[in-house]
Amino acid sequence: MTRVHIQDLSIRFGHHEVIQHLDLDVHSGEFLVLLGPSGCGKSTLLHTIAGLNPVSGGSIHIGEQDATHAEPSQRGVGMVFQSYALYPNMTVRENLAFPLKMAKTPPAELDRRVAAAADMLQLGPLLQRRPGQLSGGQRQRVAIGRAIVREAKVLLLDEPLSNLDAKLRTDLRRELKTLHQRLGNTMIYVTHDQVEAMTLATRIVVMHQGVIQQIGTPAEVYDRPKNLRVAGFVGSPA
Ligand code: ADP
Ligand code: MG
Repeated sequence: MTRVHIQDLSIRFGHHEVIQHLDLDVHSGEFLVLLGPSGCGKSTLLHTIAGLNPVSGGSIHIGEQDATHAEPSQRGVGMVFQSYALYPNMTVRENLAFPLKMAKTPPAELDRRVAAAADMLQLGPLLQRRPGQLSGGQRQRVAIGRAIVREAKVLLLDEPLSNLDAKLRTDLRRELKTLHQRLGNTMIYVTHDQVEAMTLATRIVVMHQGVIQQIGTPAEVYDRPKNLRVAGFVGSPA
């Protein structure tokens, strides 16, 4: 069971306080969506949970661990970035296996995990191809696969579908939901797309300029917005 507990978190770049005294309790196994306009601090928050940004104040607990200052590789989180950043000279299989090689996973276990990820993401027929021979949607599936092979209890996804066309977005959204049901892990998913948030989330966190405006189920946030910022962002565009 892995809960992510963030207390009084501040993140500054120089004098710019991007995240201000943020408290957030991500429940074990939920699909939490961070929703807000571009520049509100969603990626910064996600990177900080992953350990890619230093913390200016406050704490982050991941499961039982105080991860506030832990190395990224020691946090038990997997991360999927907006641009997939696959290794172009490796096959799909090698891309999937790479994080496990780095972690010195024994070969039999490595094979098992790569096969499981390939199966879940329908990558079986593509294992010998290189990223240049894949479509955008297939590449993003490999990126997601690379994040799940380590069987991290917490998966962080930063606008993973935003570079894809509408049809692929709908397909992959459905796959992500199924994946979450199968893995049962804790998902923290960043988007600026309201529809994506509504269809994927167990709970939505609406952010504005580094401050949480409201946390609730999609229905709560949509039907009972707490303030005009939430209403303006989540409600109809009218
Ligand atoms: P979002 O993901 O919601 O679009 P970001 O977290 O990327 O927003 O950015 C939030 C704010 O933090 C922006 O004003 C951005 O310019 C600033 N910012 C992000 N990363 C850095 C950095 N490494 N150095 C300085 N400013 C940054
Ligand atoms: Mg971002």
